[in-house]
Amino acid sequence: MATSTKYIFVTGGVTSSLGKGIIAASLAKLLQAQGYRTTIQKLDPYINVDPGTLNPYEHGECYVTDDGAETDLDLGHYERFLNVPTSQANNVTTGRIYQSVIEKERRGEFLGKTVQVIPHITDEIKHRIQILDNAGDYDIVITEIGGTVGDIESLPYIEAVRQLKWDLGENNAIVIHLTLIPYLSAAGELKTKPTQHSVKTLMESGVQADVLVCRTEHELPEDLRSKLAKFCNVREEAIIQSIDASTIYDVPNLMLDEGLDTVVLKKLGLNSDTPNLTQWNEFLSRHKNPKSEVTIGLIGKYVELQDSYKSILEAFIHSGAENEVSVNVESIHSEYLNANNVKFKLSHLDGILVAPGFGERGIEGKIDAIKYVRENNIPFLGICLGMQMAVIEFSRNVLGLTDANSTEMVHETSHPVIDLMEEQKSITDKGGTMRLGAWSCSIKDGSIVKDVYKQSTIEERHRHRYEFNNDYKQQIEAAGMLATGLNPDTDLVEIVEIPSHSWFVGVQYHPEYKSTVANPHPLFVAFVKAAQNYKKNEKNVTMARS
Ligand code: GLN
Repeated sequence: MATSTKYIFVTGGVTSSLGKGIIAASLAKLLQAQGYRTTIQKLDPYINVDPGTLNPYEHGECYVTDDGAETDLDLGHYERFLNVPTSQANNVTTGRIYQSVIEKERRGEFLGKTVQVIPHITDEIKHRIQILDNAGDYDIVITEIGGTVGDIESLPYIEAVRQLKWDLGENNAIVIHLTLIPYLSAAGELKTKPTQHSVKTLMESGVQADVLVCRTEHELPEDLRSKLAKFCNVREEAIIQSIDASTIYDVPNLMLDEGLDTVVLKKLGLNSDTPNLTQWNEFLSRHKNPKSEVTIGLIGKYVELQDSYKSILEAFIHSGAENEVSVNVESIHSEYLNANNVKFKLSHLDGILVAPGFGERGIEGKIDAIKYVRENNIPFLGICLGMQMAVIEFSRNVLGLTDANSTEMVHETSHPVIDLMEEQKSITDKGGTMRLGAWSCSIKDGSIVKDVYKQSTIEERHRHRYEFNNDYKQQIEAAGMLATGLNPDTDLVEIVEIPSHSWFVGVQYHPEYKSTVANPHPLFVAFVKAAQNYKKNEKNVTMARS
């Protein structure tokens, strides 16, 4: 098979949660910084067609791409590291693979053959890996295989990797195996045996790892590296230590120090050069040397889960670095907030973000928090459900529509200020049917957001079913909450603001998905700045008054 694209497969061994996504993104960054056009793909072995139907307890945040794909959160890392948009083709699940094979079978495309895992499922996997570079846009495609080697559900993927390695030939495809070297404190030793077994499991499927990236809490001594090399059929230079880092943004430099990029490029027969990480390192230096700090409350109902608001937390890191300020994010569970405790729980904060979400649980706490924030001039950013709750709070407490609600929460509410779009009403399937992906928005002159974006038209990513109900727009605007961003085609309200407040913005879209190291999202940058200003000036005045 003639191809100029090089393929790197990343598999995981011993345990899950080793950070394959970060290693893949860090390697991609080092290759991109040497001029190689690089993209990353994630193959997920579960049977859901996409993670859109998984709740955050199962799978963390659902990341949304410009083309409206609901994807694995690792795609967020890819975009944040590379500053290149991903698409549906960058995330494939077993569900999607089987769905397309079964659809082909129904169309009779297999011409009477028995449809089997090998070759039909594996061919579909190989096709999905190679189709990513259909347009010849990339020099290198990195494919991360979700799950752990040895899992039953990973087997077709490992088989597809074996076949592709063979089809593509030496120097065109390599396998990086990410593994764990546990430290037994009772023995005071790092142990290689689990890695030996996991490399052996990979070999049982006919796949030899070319590079071992070893996650460890302690430095790997030379003798342990030689032992791993000898037992695992891997050259010593290809034993790469990945020691725990204080921030994921350190990992590209750690991999550079270990020579991961050099060994990979050598195996792929490509030239290596010194990567240009100037901009990356400038970001790191600003991130690590803040001149001041602010505390921002993140109010949501999944706050106990590290991964459920991943893109929001990362966007605060990017925007904090941009403002040279350390952003302490304090997670606040909306279920435990009420009118009596909001002052106690929120008055020390310099800004408050009310998070996206689905369903009724915890929404009254969000509404109580927004009332407090609005009345006390604390900078506020509401994202998706957070924006919808701001509209409900305003309608209830300023317009006096005491039972205003979203029809998502109370179907029969007499004031449905947030309601389903007409075209959503007949939809019954849950998967992939929300308003998804990039939609444009026209911004009104003289608004906070015009000042933030410095553009009249923006494109932002959406993931929701419910919308601001335009029947209430006139009433709400007359009372002081303005719709400052509208969808130019449908007139749907995408942004609301309260001009009499210090900084109060609600957005129906998800700005967090588009924040990257190279391009911190302007709305987060402005929100963090507003929190800084509030801390410096207004907090004292407001608190003195109350
Ligand atoms: N549940 C709301 C809707 O579907 C908000 C969704 C979100 O916050 N992503 O409209």
